Amino acid sequence: MKVGFIGLGNMGGPMARNLATAGHEVSGFDVAAPDVEGVTPALSAAEAARDADVVITMLPNGSILRSVADQVIPAMKPGAVLCDCSTVDVDSARAVAEQAGAAGLGALDAPVSGGVGGAAAGTLTFMVGGTAEAFAKVKPLFDIMGQKAVHCGDSGAGQAAKICNNMILGVTMIATCEAFALADKLGLDRQKMFDVVSTSSGYSWSMNAYCPAPGVGPVSPADNGYRPGFAAELMLKDLRLSQQAADSADADTPMGELATRLYTEFVEREDGKGRDFSAMLPRLAARGRPAGTA
Ligand code: NAD
Repeated sequence: MKVGFIGLGNMGGPMARNLATAGHEVSGFDVAAPDVEGVTPALSAAEAARDADVVITMLPNGSILRSVADQVIPAMKPGAVLCDCSTVDVDSARAVAEQAGAAGLGALDAPVSGGVGGAAAGTLTFMVGGTAEAFAKVKPLFDIMGQKAVHCGDSGAGQAAKICNNMILGVTMIATCEAFALADKLGLDRQKMFDVVSTSSGYSWSMNAYCPAPGVGPVSPADNGYRPGFAAELMLKDLRLSQQAADSADADTPMGELATRLYTEFVEREDGKGRDFSAMLPRLAARGRPAGTA
């Protein structure tokens, strides 16, 4: 297939390289003009998109996606599919899909989980919103860049799945960290805490697969000085998107709101920026009970 790839950063670069290595003809554009093995550099987003069967975008946020969509949609050939793999707000995903549809194009929102390691290894999971026809067309590319692609529903459903998943992740990570901090103060050994909770009803991915306590459970960023992994500021981005979506859908998400507030404090007013999101454990362990807590 001819593929246009726009946004060749930490995630997009290795994803585009994997498509080229698999034999697809990839034309790439990024404002930072990085060199990506096997990818032919284009002079603009529109040039990368012209003649492509599928245009993939991997960009920082919804407003940049909207501006790139304005550039590429008029350049794309009829019947081609615009597939956005960035994590953006549901409203931007739906607006871009509508704009593409009006121009006679297919459109998918296909955010990923798996991080930079998954992008490099081609083991990402794609959560996809859009028509079955567009999904079928792009599926062979998902199969190269990832190990799983779930068609979640109509436009916006992929972004909805992504932010609901990551809202659970943020909330369970905080709950796991505060339980470790409480266990410390109760004199309970962290290894014993892990042994019990990881096989009891408090288990979760945060405890069992990504334990925030150093030296306990499987190897995780906690064992590497809390270097990311999944940076606290990326967790905050996804939590904010969950709250933006909850506002526009009139959904009550009290735990998601509190998790957003805690990660905002951690990233913007404390030392959380550049640290893994599981560094919430040393943060909480260092604190006492706030005055006036019921
Ligand atoms: P990044 O900042 O490394 O890459 C984004 C790229 O987009 C940059 O290279 C930038 O130069 C380019 N760009 C910005 N504006 C542009 C424009 N107008 N035209 C063309 N290129 C432009 O970010 P990343 O880590 O690769 O993340 C990309 C997306 O994937 C984000 O939406 C992020 O939330 C999501 N994501 C990231 C991870 C992760 O672990 N890094 C995991 C899952 C999802």
